[in-house]
Amino acid sequence: MNLVLLGPPGSGKGTQAERIAEEFNLKVFSTGNILRQLAKEETPLGRKIKEILRRGELVPEEIMAEILADFLAKEKREGILFDGYPRNLEQAKILTSHLEKLGGVSLAIYLKVRPEVVVKRLGSRRICPNCGAVYNLETKPPKRENVCDSCGSRLVQREDEKPAAIRKRLAVFERETLPVLEFFKKEGNLVTIDGEASIEAVYQEIKEEIKKLKIKN
Ligand code: AMP
Repeated sequence: MNLVLLGPPGSGKGTQAERIAEEFNLKVFSTGNILRQLAKEETPLGRKIKEILRRGELVPEEIMAEILADFLAKEKREGILFDGYPRNLEQAKILTSHLEKLGGVSLAIYLKVRPEVVVKRLGSRRICPNCGAVYNLETKPPKRENVCDSCGSRLVQREDEKPAAIRKRLAVFERETLPVLEFFKKEGNLVTIDGEASIEAVYQEIKEEIKKLKIKN
């Protein structure tokens, strides 16, 4: 079973990916996490990626193709949960052909969240640059304004969660990733889930869809 999680930035893909992977024993391929890790490296590639992430644009295809090939070369088995990939039609086609011998994409799950909700969700996130703790000014505020509960450092906003970058990422999603939804719809394996529901409710719905899949096979 290979799953794809699709949705705009801030739709909860990462949160759901971790839980589903644990429940169904899947390996997560999170391009956002891999790229954020690479962006920390003081190398020409690291600096290039860091700048692209800051602007909220997509990382060029040749870099993404290599990241995917590296991952699949190590995995060589089905049971992968794709979080953040594919993000455009070209990647959808590359992924489909790579997975031909690994069982294909079993289900593409679209977490639907309206743009105004994304802006609010991401705009209120704050992180601790020292220990990595994540806060939300609306739903999980720190005890003291702008100060990390765990280590006392001053909280910051992620560069790609500042208003201009969020708008850019949303525009990229609409232009590049919406066609990917059509692609999976035509293949007959797209399901849409209301990503504005609670984390738990979204998780239960995803589980239901995966169970249906297992019954069918
Ligand atoms: P995410 O955490 O999935 O929202 O990804 C964060 C950022 O990483 C995105 O805004 C893009 O700049 C970059 N990125 C993630 N996945 C991809 C991908 N499949 N192709 C190109 N760029 C990506």
